This record gives sequence, structure tokens and C-alpha cells, in this order.
Amino acid sequence: MHAFIGLLLAIESLQMGTLPRQWRPSGPNCTEVPDWQVHEYNPNTWIIRESGCTNYEKPFLYLIFGENKALLQDTGAGKTDIDRLIPNLLAQWAKRNNKPVPPLLVVHSHSHGDHVSGDKQLAALPNVTVVPAKPDEIEKALAMPGWPEKLGVIDLGGARQLDAIPIPGHDAADMALYDRQTGLLLTGDTVYPGRLYVRNFPEYVKSIDRLVNFAKDRPIAHVLGTHIEQARTPFNDYKVRTVYQPDEAVLELSRGDLLELQSALAEMKGKPRRQELSRFTIFPRVALP
Ligand SMILES: [Zn+2]
Ligand SMILES: [Zn+2]
Repeated sequence: MHAFIGLLLAIESLQMGTLPRQWRPSGPNCTEVPDWQVHEYNPNTWIIRESGCTNYEKPFLYLIFGENKALLQDTGAGKTDIDRLIPNLLAQWAKRNNKPVPPLLVVHSHSHGDHVSGDKQLAALPNVTVVPAKPDEIEKALAMPGWPEKLGVIDLGGARQLDAIPIPGHDAADMALYDRQTGLLLTGDTVYPGRLYVRNFPEYVKSIDRLVNFAKDRPIAHVLGTHIEQARTPFNDYKVRTVYQPDEAVLELSRGDLLELQSALAEMKGKPRRQELSRFTIFPRVALP
């Protein structure tokens, strides 16, 4: 089949969803802010945002339901009650669908502390498998040898399959997920509206090439990362540790943003430098020990 016709058919079969025009700001009064905001993108795709009043990183977590299994990407930042939240959400979904509570597979966008804080709490629950955010553990648990060149597939049952795409460079264990059912591409801290901290520049460049190449012949509904640091005003970001961001940008980016990032990186010709683009900043950093 011609690739273009294939793409059109793929778009037609996508399950759509909606995103908020604005996520609930963390403030100005923290006593009025719930610990978590849970947004149903569609009935089987839930996006969870941690409150900035709990932790200024206010990361996003993704909960995706298949026929046989649910998947959670990331477990939050700081001390939380995620081991209460997630079982509640699983039970809610099960009740609504008249099904047993599904087993849960936990994977990560990467290994940084603001994305793995709840790992131990969740691993202590029944019917939960937590895959540690380390390349060798991911290779084993998801049966995807050949990190970072080789991709994997996570099958949640029914028609719900996610492609796992290693994208190291911000961290050693960065992994994007592509949901074939919704066309959502989850890119963690590698691509989001904010400061893209690059710790291993050559790896990062290769990873963005890998992502763009992957996205080339697939429908991409949205590119969704794990933070918002950008304001609605182009080129403006909130300072590190800002809790209250009343004018923050939307979360969603597009394939076009990926292409802009790829070409800005290519123009650096191997010499990393800070560069502000309208929706994010490339922010090289020396590798942490
Ligand atoms: Zn990170
Ligand atoms: Zn982060």
C-alpha cells in the first residue's frame, strides 16, 4: 500500500480525545488545590497531573487501559498518596466497564526522581508490576533487546498496543511510548513545553532523529511530555521551582515541533548550545555523575 494512503486509513481509525484548554493552576492558595488533577482524554486514556503544591515539578502521569491490563507511565514526584490514587482509579474504571480490576504495568518516561517517587509504594500493591527505569531492566521486562536502536511493543490486550521507543540523552533510560489507538506520542522530559535539559548531546540528537523517523509514517495526534514550564507567550518560561503558573502554555506539542527541534539540533553541528524556540528551549547540561 502507498504510505500516504496507509496513513490516511490509520488516521481514520484513531480514537480521539480532548485536552484541557488550561490545567488547574497550583494556587494562588495551595489549601484549595487538590493533590492530583485527573483528566479523561477519552474513556480509556487518563492523564494525571500532580499538584505543584505537592512538588514544584508538577509532573504528568499517563494511565492507559487495554482489554487485559492497564499501564501507568511514571509514579510522581516527592511524597504522595499515589498508592491510594491509582487503585482508586483502577477500581473506578473497572466498575464503569463492569470488569475486574485490571493488573497494572508501571513503566517510566525515565529514571529521574520526579518521575519514580512512587515506585516502591506501587510495587508493594497486589497485581502491580513495576519495571525499574534502567535500560537493562527495561530490555528484559519488555522483551526488547538492542537498546537504544531497537523498539519494543507493549500489548495491553484488545487493540491496545504501545510502541516503546528508547530516546536516551536527557537521561540514560528515556523511553517514549506511542499509542497506536489514539496516536498519542508520550515523550517524557525529552520533548515538552519547557527547558529540554540535554545531558548527552550526541545521544539526544540520535534519539530525536529516531523519534522523527518513527513519527514519519504514523498519525501523531499530540506529542505529550511530562512537564509544562513554558508560558502561553512564545519564548517565555517560568523560573525553576515556580509553583503557581496561571498563564502556562498548553501541554500538547505536535509533529511540527519535533521537526523544529530536529533541525535546530542539526544546525548545531555537534556543538551543543542553548537555544530558545517558541515552545521550548534546548538546554545543554553537563552530565551528572
Ligand atoms: Zn528528567
Ligand atoms: Zn522531570
